[in-house]
Amino acid sequence: MIKEQRTLKLNGERSMGHGKVFLVGAGPGDYKLLTIRALELLKKADVVIYDRLVSKSILKLIPKKAKKIYVGKKSGIYELPQEKINELMINLALDGKKVIRLKGGDPFLFGRGGEEAEALSDNNIDFEVVPGITSALAAPAYAGIPLTHRKYSSSVAIVTGHQIEKSEKVINWSKIASSVDTIVILMGVGRLEAITKNLMEGGLSINTPVAIIERGTMKRQRSLIGKLGTISEEVRKKNVKPPAVIVIGEVAELGRKLSWFKMPLH
Ligand code: SAH
Repeated sequence: MIKEQRTLKLNGERSMGHGKVFLVGAGPGDYKLLTIRALELLKKADVVIYDRLVSKSILKLIPKKAKKIYVGKKSGIYELPQEKINELMINLALDGKKVIRLKGGDPFLFGRGGEEAEALSDNNIDFEVVPGITSALAAPAYAGIPLTHRKYSSSVAIVTGHQIEKSEKVINWSKIASSVDTIVILMGVGRLEAITKNLMEGGLSINTPVAIIERGTMKRQRSLIGKLGTISEEVRKKNVKPPAVIVIGEVAELGRKLSWFKMPLH
């Protein structure tokens, strides 16, 4: 249960307890890609609520005095339901705590940051959003793949490959296939076969270049470059696992030439 509001109305303005929630992006993995604002807030946090994708090197930056609460998935066990996470943040803020809600990448890109901000707003909790470097941009960059290029791509779409709940907005793959030059897919490894099929039905050639970057920016980053028609088979053979970013389009091919962080798998 969400505690009774302690918000006071003063001359029409909202005055909160001193608690506040910061929806903070932790970046893609490498702690050096954290923003200065994020680091500053972590150092002063009372409580840090974090997800599975926040890397160990970042968790190490949290001072011992701060309480760390993990709300991500453990093997086989489902993550804390979203409403419970919302309640936790709200109650801690109402207790006057400085709460950091730390999320992988950027909090407003496929991280349910929007839903959490809504819950905070609905309950009159003071909050701030600290953008983070999203894996959608960082993983391709670390694999030497520019998402736009004057010769090959002048548009990019970032799409989720994970669509399970009926309430989620439906993805129109053929529309995406026909309207952008570069498609970046997050959470797509498990459904790659169906996604590639949909994109080919939507008009993309079987020879469209595709790159998959696993654990982007992390020490064990791997990348794989192939073609739309055969990539799902290769991914299975090479046992590519989440977290991974998929890049579809001519620019993916540039990863062969510009890969600077680690040699590609093939
Ligand atoms: N808000 C996050 C995305 C959360 S969705 C962001 O902005 O990055 C989770 C998905 O992000 C994963 O399934 C994967 O597709 C991608 N992802 C996150 N970190 C990654 C990493 N280090 N390397 C590759 N993909 C990553």
